[in-house]
Amino acid sequence: MTDTPTQLFIGGAWADAADGATMPVDDPATGEIIAHVADAGAKDAQRAEEAAVQAQEAWARTAPRVRSEILRRAYEIIVERTDELAHVMTAEMGKPLAEARGEVAYAAEFFRWFSEEAVRIEGGHGVLPDGRNRMLLARRPVGPCLLITPWNFPLAMGTRKIGPAIAAGCTMILKPAPQTPLSSLALAAILKEAGLPDGVLNVVTTSRAGEVCEPLLRGGRMRKLSFTGSTDVGRLLLAQSAEAVVRTSMELGGNAPFIVFGDADLDKAVDGAMVAKMRNMGEACTAANRFFVHSSVVKEFGRRLAERMGALVVGPGTRDGVDVGPLIDRVGRAKVEELVADAVERGARVLVGGRTPEGPGCFYPPTVLTDVAPDSRLMDTEIFGPVAAILTFDDEDEVIRRANDTPWGLVGYVFTEGLDRALRVSERLEVGMVGVNTGLVSNPAAPFGGVKQSGLGREGGRVGLDEFLEYQYLAVPVR
Ligand code: NAP
Repeated sequence: MTDTPTQLFIGGAWADAADGATMPVDDPATGEIIAHVADAGAKDAQRAEEAAVQAQEAWARTAPRVRSEILRRAYEIIVERTDELAHVMTAEMGKPLAEARGEVAYAAEFFRWFSEEAVRIEGGHGVLPDGRNRMLLARRPVGPCLLITPWNFPLAMGTRKIGPAIAAGCTMILKPAPQTPLSSLALAAILKEAGLPDGVLNVVTTSRAGEVCEPLLRGGRMRKLSFTGSTDVGRLLLAQSAEAVVRTSMELGGNAPFIVFGDADLDKAVDGAMVAKMRNMGEACTAANRFFVHSSVVKEFGRRLAERMGALVVGPGTRDGVDVGPLIDRVGRAKVEELVADAVERGARVLVGGRTPEGPGCFYPPTVLTDVAPDSRLMDTEIFGPVAAILTFDDEDEVIRRANDTPWGLVGYVFTEGLDRALRVSERLEVGMVGVNTGLVSNPAAPFGGVKQSGLGREGGRVGLDEFLEYQYLAVPVR
């Protein structure tokens, strides 16, 4: 950690905040402060904006191959430094080292994927209906971008935005979450080492998100907002972006249904549930929030899931053999405790877990609740913790209606051995992604994103690059 930068990264140089402010970064496993990083204010945001705007024109004209190779080199450095980056991530966020290494690999893959896409940006040519005019379609970078990321995947949420922005030829300001600034600063150092020109990426760490971001969005010099975070904050930022008609990509919250039909292979369903629920300690937008299990298998599914969840080892992410680290902070843990208490008050039975341990750190045990009442608060709140809430259903139409009965629509999971049913149900779920007999949908080559209040646009895949590109149409008459 001693080598991880703690200053702002603006115009290719490291700098303190203009007013000298710093903010502490805690280890959620111990509550101890592990670093103090620069805490940017409005003046720093202006400097970052200036750097991004100044760098834009030359960067847009840089050869695609050059942009591609910078990303490729950064991918290689990230892979070489997997262990170092994983330790930084575990220290500031809490996830076990094995999961942190997994996130480093996932994060690096976005750079590899977009390094390959950077040289395949294609426009078009057409003859217009009058037969005389020709249409040339050029793709151009959208311009300087503001990228705002959450704390739950400190590295991957950054590379998922920075990768396509670099590939497209956009400059950017990254504002990471205040709980996890170190991973983003380490990433900036890697991109500098990989040859990224000054000003293309600027990182402002801050505890004053509104003060830093609102003027950037309202000012109109930033031409794009790419945000990952909660729906409430997303809604506010959409309103701020409206004034200067800033283009937006919004990756927001979820409330994923996980549906197990009577004909499901229960081994696959329980394996899938462990991933969909326990990846990142349940602190994922893709986390299964509502388990709908057919009445013919609900008892057996609950028993097996409780057995697997109960066997997980909870502890500091740096300790060998630990499966489940601490939650991000005490506020996050208190929310989980309240949701469980509310469900139990309304009749849910606790099959395993459900009790906050004594001692330091923000730990919460893997928990399975069954007989959860449909009016429980956790049915329409992202739990964001290791709690599986099981409800029973009998009929396909009924479960689809209940699964869709939410303002969110990020991802759903369907477990059945019937291909017809898998396709029929997937097509009727109001979500952007479906895991069919799998609990994991995330992949850098696939378009990630949601419908309804889970967001606008997609990240990853080929379409992830489109989010950072405009079309320019040239009318060319041929006489
Ligand atoms: P959050 O509270 O919405 O914060 C996300 C980011 O927005 C943070 O950097 C935060 O900084 C910043 N922010 C908050 N208010 C702001 C404002 N007024 N102006 C500018 N920036 C502002 O979400 P979170 O608690 O970090 O993350 C959890 C949420 O992210 C969950 O809802 C989860 O589902 C969602 N998520 C979605 C995806 C996806 O791809 N769909 C992926 C991961 C997470 P401050 O903390 O300083 O306010």
